Order: sequence, then C-alpha cells, then structure tokens
Amino acid sequence: MQGAHAAVIPDHINIGLIGCGIGKSRTPAMHMAEAKAQGFLCDYNLLDMDDESRADLSLSDMLDTVEKDGYAGVNVTYPYKMKVISLLDDLSDNARMVGAVNTVVFKDGKRIGHNTDLWGFAESFRRGLIGAKWDDTLLIGAGGAGVAVAHALVQCGVKQLSIHDMDLERADNLVDHLKKTWPDMAVRAVGDLGQVFASHRPDGVVNATPMGMAKLPGSALPTDYLNEKMWVADIVYFPLETQLLKDARACGCRTLPGSGMAVFQAVRAFELFTGLPADPNRMKETFDTFDL
Ligand code: NAD
Repeated sequence: MQGAHAAVIPDHINIGLIGCGIGKSRTPAMHMAEAKAQGFLCDYNLLDMDDESRADLSLSDMLDTVEKDGYAGVNVTYPYKMKVISLLDDLSDNARMVGAVNTVVFKDGKRIGHNTDLWGFAESFRRGLIGAKWDDTLLIGAGGAGVAVAHALVQCGVKQLSIHDMDLERADNLVDHLKKTWPDMAVRAVGDLGQVFASHRPDGVVNATPMGMAKLPGSALPTDYLNEKMWVADIVYFPLETQLLKDARACGCRTLPGSGMAVFQAVRAFELFTGLPADPNRMKETFDTFDL
C-alpha cells in the first residue's frame, strides 16, 4: 500500500477533517465504525473552520495543532484542498497529478499529502460498471472534483474524453492540464453539449457538477441526450438519486451513484492513516445508515 504506515494495530488513533461547513459529513462515522470493527478506537474529529472557536485559526495553525496533538493525519476538504499543498513536505503521485490533496498523513515528522478522490472514483467506476464500454466518455464539470475524476477516467482506460463546463475556460484549462500528464490522450473541451451528441453518442457520461444536489436541483444533461445504450455516473451523493440518475434509469441506462466515490475515498484514507486494509462493504453500510 503506497505511503501507508506499518500494519500494527493501534490502541487508539486521532484523525480529523479540516474544512468549512462540514457538519453533515459521513466520513467520521465511516472511519470510527471501521476502526471499532477492527478492534481499536478511532476519534475522528470534525475541525470546522467556520466554527466561532476557530475564527482566529489559519489552516497552518490548525495543521500545527493536530500534528502536535499526535493525530495520525487529517482529511482536508473545501476550501483547502489546494491551499494545503504549500504546508506539506511531500505529495503522492496522485496528489501531484491532480494538484489537490484530501488526505494528509503525519509520518516520521513529515506531512505527506494524498489524493484519495481520484482512486475513490476509479475504484467505484471499475466495480460499479463492470463489462461496460467506456472508450468514449463525456465529463460534465471541470471544477475541483472534475480534475480528480478526469485523471481517474484516463487511468481506467477511457480513450477519448470530452469535457464540458458552463465555464469554458475551466474545461480548456483541464484539457491543457490533462495533456501535460497524458500527452497521447484524445481529450477535448466542448462548449456545447449538442456538438458532442450531433457527431456521435459517447459510451457514457459522468456528472461532476453540483447540479442535482438537494440545494441545486436539476440536471446538467438534458434528457434528450440520454440513450439506453449509455451508462450514466453522478458524483453528487446528496441526494443519492439525483435528477440525472432518475432520468437515466427511466431511459434504461446503467447508472452509478456518487456514494461509491465517497466510500472508496474513505477506504483508501483509512488505509493511509492506519496501515490497515479497510472493508469497503462495511464502510458502505455505515454510509448507508444516514438518512438520504
Ligand atoms: P466546483 O464548484 O469546484 O466545480 C463545479 C464545476 O461545475 C464548475 O467548474 C462549474 O462551472 C461547473 N458547472 C456547474 N453547473 C454546471 C452545469 N449546469 N453545466 C456545466 N457545468 C456546470 O465543485 P466540485 O468541488 O468540483 O464539486 C462538484 C460536485 O461533486 C459537488 O456536488 C460535490 O458535492 C461533489 N463531490 C462528490 C464527491 C464524492 O465523493 N462523491 C467528492 C467531491 C465532490
């Protein structure tokens, strides 16, 4: 396991999540239940930087504090996934590739940054769409998560990737960024979805925009473009059944919900924090205990 601790079962570990507005995160419960099932105690603390008690703390202060307090590591989320990089000693290959970190491991006096969103999406995709053809894939959304998903799709073997974002500059930037890492990859930015579907139908579509979230209802892909031969994946997981997935299911498409990415990013982070393999089914069971 790349970058993990030696696999010695600890008595107790402290980990946490640093971000803003993170009160509803399911990640603490997944880690704590997994540790308990493996016979040790894990305190997973939500370190919400919006909390009044942390008003005077910077990200750097927060990292210093948890490192001094003996944390095994922390997850990092909005708005710190890129900002945290300058505070770290080294990055994993995936974190360097994506240019964002969601997991920091404290090890031998060093801070190592990882990106488990990439592997989380890739693992969910490979397991959830077995047998599907994905040579030609459309990614909608080129924001923070879209970058990790794009790299994951390339690593999963997508041969032609079209990227659409309502902010065309973001799609162009992601294409340039991907071409630097994968120079032989056929990747293009598309300003108009009609342009993609007029020439040919992609094998499948991934939504990496926030469209479909409870607070942003709707779908980034008009239903006219759906076809039963396509698969449709969403990374939004609140709610699990987004409008896009509902439309796709009604059309007869294979679908992949965002819960897989959320669970597998935690599976890999658990392994990095503890050096112990995590049980994805058990972590998914904990994830599913939340009201959706
Ligand atoms: P972001 O704001 O960084 O990026 C979103 C991008 O989508 C932006 O570039 C925006 O221009 C684009 N966009 C928005 N609406 C669009 C539309 N209708 N058509 C085309 N483009 C559109 O957000 P993010 O951090 O990348 O997160 C995106 C979503 O992914 C959020 O809902 C987040 O909760 C979810 N997410 C899920 C997981 C998971 O584990 N399942 C992990 C990370 C993020």
